[in-house]
This record gives sequence, C-alpha cells and structure tokens, in this order.
Amino acid sequence: MNNTDIRITIPEKAKYIIDVLEDAGYEAYVVGGCVRDSILGREPQDWDITTSALPLRVKELFRRTIDTGLQHGTVTVMQGEEGFEVTTYRIDGEYEDGRHPKDVTFTPNLEEDLLRRDFTINAMAYNDRRGLVDLYDGIGDIERKIIRCVGDPNARFSEDALRMLRAVRFSAQLGYTIEPATREAITKLAPTLEKISAERIRTELVKLLVSNNPYELKEAYETGMTAVFLPEFDRAMQTEQNHKHHCYSVGEHILHAIEEVEATQVLRMAMLLHDIGKPDTLTVDESGITHFHGHVQKSEEMAKVILRRLKFDNDSIDKICRLVRFHDYGMGIVPDEKIVRRAVNKIGEDIFSMFLQVGRADIMAQSDYERESKLANNDSWGKMYDKIMEENQCVSLKTLKINGRTLIEMGVKPGPELGRILNTLLEEVLDNPSGNDEEWLKNRAQEIK
Ligand code: ATP
Ligand code: MG
Repeated sequence: MNNTDIRITIPEKAKYIIDVLEDAGYEAYVVGGCVRDSILGREPQDWDITTSALPLRVKELFRRTIDTGLQHGTVTVMQGEEGFEVTTYRIDGEYEDGRHPKDVTFTPNLEEDLLRRDFTINAMAYNDRRGLVDLYDGIGDIERKIIRCVGDPNARFSEDALRMLRAVRFSAQLGYTIEPATREAITKLAPTLEKISAERIRTELVKLLVSNNPYELKEAYETGMTAVFLPEFDRAMQTEQNHKHHCYSVGEHILHAIEEVEATQVLRMAMLLHDIGKPDTLTVDESGITHFHGHVQKSEEMAKVILRRLKFDNDSIDKICRLVRFHDYGMGIVPDEKIVRRAVNKIGEDIFSMFLQVGRADIMAQSDYERESKLANNDSWGKMYDKIMEENQCVSLKTLKINGRTLIEMGVKPGPELGRILNTLLEEVLDNPSGNDEEWLKNRAQEIK
C-alpha cells in the first residue's frame, strides 16, 4: 500500500476542530486508535486529536472545553453532546514506578509525539492536508499483522509496564501476532506488571476477554503476566483433569468455555472464574480419576476475592458470582416447568438466560462424552424458560399479584410475619401459576395469616 493513497474520512465535528486549529496557525491531526481502526475498516471508538497548540490556546479557541488532564496536555473539546480529546504534542518523561509519566514536556514536533506511543500501529497520524504520517511503518505491520513496539521494547515496557498487557489485548482484538523481540521483552519484564494499578489491568483484561480471540489469554499466561495479576489461573493451567467428562486441563477447559459465550464482561468473566476453585479441591481416587468436590463453592469464594481485587463494580461482581455459584445447577436434572420456575426464582430473572449460556458453554468445553444428551437437556431448560417468560408467569415477589401493602390493609402486621406470608404465597404460585390472581391470593392469605 502506498501511504499517499490512504484516505481517511474524518467525522465532521473532528474535522471542524482540526480546521479551527489550523486556521489559527497550528498543526492538528487525528491520531492513534482511530487512524488504525479507519485503515482496518473497523469503527473507531473515539477520535483523538493531537496538536502543536498548547492546552491554554486550545481552551481559548473553543467555546466549551473540559480540563480533562491539563498537566498531561489534554483538553476535551465539546461539539454538541460529543467530546473530543485534544492533546498537545508531548514527550513523556520517565514513568514513575512504571506508572505515570513523572513530567511531560510539550514539543512543537509531531514526530516526537508519535515516538512516545506504544505500538507502531497506534503511532500514525492523519489530516486531509498532509495525509498519513507513518514514521514507524505502522502500515507495514498492519500488512504483516504484527504488534511491534515503537523503538526498543525493553525501554518502552520499562517506562510503562501496562503496555505488555496492551500488546496481548491488541493481538486478541486484531488477530495479530506479537513480534518476537517485543514478545521476548514481555517474557523478561512480565513481573514488573506488579507495579500497575488494578484498574488499568482490569480495563485491558476485559478488552482482551470480550475480543474475538479471548483464547489469547493463554499468551498472557505463557509470557508470565497472569502469574502477576491472576495467579489462580496459572494454577488452573497446571491442573490436569482425568475424567470421562473432560479432555482438557482445568485452564484449557476455562479458555475454551470463554470462547463459547457471548462477548460481554459478565459472561466472559463468569467463564473465566467458573472452575477457578478446582485446583484447591482436587482429589485423585484409587483408579487415578480426578475429582473436585466442593469446587463450585470454592470457585465462588475465589471469584469474589479476585473481582474485588481487580476493582470490578458491585453489580458485575454480584452477577458474575451468582453465575459461578449456579454454573452446574440443574445439570442432569430433567426439567419440568415447576423446576424451572423455582430455578428462575433462585438464580434470578436478571441472569437466567446468561445462566443457560454458561451451562451450554461448560458442556461445549468438555469431552464429547454424552455431549448430545447434555446439550438436549440444556435446550429443554431453555425452551421451558422461554415458555414461562412468554406466558408472563410469576417467578418472583416482584410479579406476585399481591404485595406487602395489600396484606397490611388486610390487618397483617409489618415485619417477619408479613415476609413469611408473602413467601408462602410465592411458593404456592411457583408450584401453580394459575394461583397468581389477586382474589385467590387474598383468600389464601386470610387462611394462612
Ligand atoms: P481503543 O480502541 O481500545 O480505544 P486505542 O488505541 O485508542 O484503543 P487508547 O487506550 O484509547 O487505545 O489510547 C489512544 C492512543 O494513545 C493509542 O492508540 C496510543 O497511541 C496511545 N497510548 C495509549 N496508552 C498508551 C500507553 N500506555 N503507552 C503509550 N501510548 C499509549
Ligand atoms: Mg481509544
């Protein structure tokens, strides 16, 4: 590809910002991820702009701006509802403990700004006037499908250790391989990831897992990075399973299970953690068969610790832990509607369709022993769940056609007694959906109060 032939369509609002800066006598380009994604025909997440104008000048030139990271040169310029990060060309100083640049120096040269960026494919800039600026052969690396550091990988990873995990994340998102010298530096410097904050690691881990190639987590293991932030996974990789239902080690089973669910944070993390307690519960019987009694409870306990350590939000922690706790619930139980209604009530309406996916993924990542019948069973759970939902059957107190207030009006005292009555009524409706009728429930409440 000839670089001068490359044309990128910059969205109107970003173009306007570039025009204003250029008309005022400065240089301005779109840069980084949006240039890479445009060339790849992927939809850019956001359009970042790099400019020779100093932050205070940027603020003067636009009506509405936000001081996003003034000391690092970043001003967010608002265009309607949309914000664009405009960052002054800069040279990053030493990274303090491999975390933040201690000081940044602004520079009038685009070349120097591109030099501070992590990978060649992320170090390209573009504007309509000059076309593509690609000083480190980002285009060549896109053609070769490789992730390569700008400059000496050892130096770049020593400045900011997070870049090592970013390398694997980009390789998973794009289906690229990590260039040998870059990979070798990762293998050497992986332990320094220990200096990086949990939040930054979580962001990259989740992007890796929800990518098209989550199996690449194995690359983070093989280069020694999971040993730092997820040593529990390393133990899973080192725990073999000798059992007719399984054909992989615990870790390989986990990797395959992750690939089988939809690409959302909750589902992919649930698969990552569903068997994480197995190494701690391993026993081997006289015939050499492996067993993991109590692994579900252990996995849930460990999942909670890991998710808190990685600073996940509470809602995700709750959902992921529930999926782990119930991941083999109903396995081997031939369902009827009553059983499924009870399961929905127990596991939660909010995650029940995810629960079914988890069960299916778990089966798909096992040996093919009895696979057809296991899948058929998972299917009948799904069909019954669909029917229950279509018929708006009551599966929780929320949809029970009587509530605490009605009971109080009937003379029940607020408190534990009220809760007992409501739960008894729900139990009866779970057994018999036609009971979810206000009159019937009132009469029944009179009898049992
Ligand atoms: P995404 O599509 O996930 O947003 P991105 O490439 O835009 O990917 P960002 O984290 O948004 O990644 O960063 C924007 C740009 O800033 C990158 O393309 C890269 O040029 C530069 N960059 C980001 N993080 C680092 C880092 N840790 N070290 C060096 N350069 C970085
Ligand atoms: Mg970005």
